[in-house]
Amino acid sequence: MSAPNAEKWPFSDPQGEANYHAARRAYPAQAIVDLAAIRDNMRHLVGVVGESSGTTEVMGVVKADAYGHGLVPVALAALAGGATWLGTAQAREALLLRAAGIGPDRAHILTWVNNPLCVPYGELIANSIDLSVATLTAVERIADAARATGLTARVHVKVDTGFGRNGFTLEQLPEAIAALRPLIDEGVLDVVGQWSHLAVADAPQDAGFVHETDMQIERFERFTSELRAGGIDPRVRHLANTAATLTRPQIHYDLVRPGIALYGYEADPAMGTPGDFGLTPAMTLQAQLSSVKDVPAGSGLSYGRVYLTGERTSVAIVPVGYADGIHRSASGFDEAGARHEYKPGGPLRVDTAYGPKLMRVSGRVCMDQFIIDLHGSAQELGVHIGDTVRLFGPGAGEAAAEPTADDWARAADTISYEIFTCLRNRVPRLYLHARSVLPPEDVARLDPQSLL
Ligand SMILES: *Cc1c(COP(=O)(O)O)cnc(C)c1O
Repeated sequence: MSAPNAEKWPFSDPQGEANYHAARRAYPAQAIVDLAAIRDNMRHLVGVVGESSGTTEVMGVVKADAYGHGLVPVALAALAGGATWLGTAQAREALLLRAAGIGPDRAHILTWVNNPLCVPYGELIANSIDLSVATLTAVERIADAARATGLTARVHVKVDTGFGRNGFTLEQLPEAIAALRPLIDEGVLDVVGQWSHLAVADAPQDAGFVHETDMQIERFERFTSELRAGGIDPRVRHLANTAATLTRPQIHYDLVRPGIALYGYEADPAMGTPGDFGLTPAMTLQAQLSSVKDVPAGSGLSYGRVYLTGERTSVAIVPVGYADGIHRSASGFDEAGARHEYKPGGPLRVDTAYGPKLMRVSGRVCMDQFIIDLHGSAQELGVHIGDTVRLFGPGAGEAAAEPTADDWARAADTISYEIFTCLRNRVPRLYLHARSVLPPEDVARLDPQSLL
């Protein structure tokens, strides 16, 4: 018996299918990103903020290579879905977006993480990239760069409402206002925005955390009054990440900054499932089995013998490991193994003659591969070398043998964000629906070999 073919991808043309097979020859795992899902998630977010206010805009947060999904394709799909802003932590990624042809006529771009002593502020200003200011050093350096270029720098004053990371504290604010005010008058700085970041908005079920978010909002308002009293009136105030965009309409302000929702996930599985929020996971991670064999009962699998097979069984090797970003903490232990404890490994969908089955990482994740216990005979199950297995995708969760990145996050004791951003670039990124989502001039901005 042979297993059904799991690889029915909606290729846009024969070249797309050829690209898929070329990627499979180049690497035994692929990350397939559905640009229609990215666009639709953004459309949904634009609709969500449209209900709370007619004027709130949406920034697609595309930092860290668009959470590992690919910077430029995701940015373009987000724009296709109605985003008018893009956000990157690193300045380099902001410049890459402009270099890819996303001009200031199409999107404002905000960047916020850098070493103010070295970052090329002049180049950023010349590219109309909005800059976060959170230190007096940055204020001075940005002003110097603006004078040197003869342009006005667009800045967003970051205020620390309780995250304890970036931003002027209330105590520092008078000094910040005193530094900013003359630069505004001189025309070197335009204070476009006031912004801050929330620490615990992803736990709306926790009363203490809800209160802390309320306090952050109160402080945000206080910062605004003090800026105004100091003669600074930011036009674009923004505070909401994904969690607050989805659950706190009263703080959408002028702009919201969802990241993880763009990729189809809620901020924390405790909030619910992606479907509860009208979101569709965009990435599928799959791999092709490099080996399938039978082993006797009591066989130790992988380093440390933390997993011993319970019965005569078949095992398969999935040729991705921690060097691909598969978390070693998603290793699977069993009670017979050297740790004498059961810990479920990361889940996978394996297609068998009896339909899709949920299998798990069995033993330790290695550098380039991990092993799965098929709990039965591969021959009977119809599992073969070269078969495609799915680590995660837009599926319905473990119970339906369709794991999601949230399931991997649970197995690895982390969050979906880290599952995506750890995925190394040696795993090819391939894009579905580029041609139906993007105008032809945007399709032309993408690596043609990456389009399915
Ligand atoms: C990453 C980030 C976001 C997006 O957060 P999500 O939880 O992914 O929505 C928003 N604002 C800032 C400052 C960030 O660093």
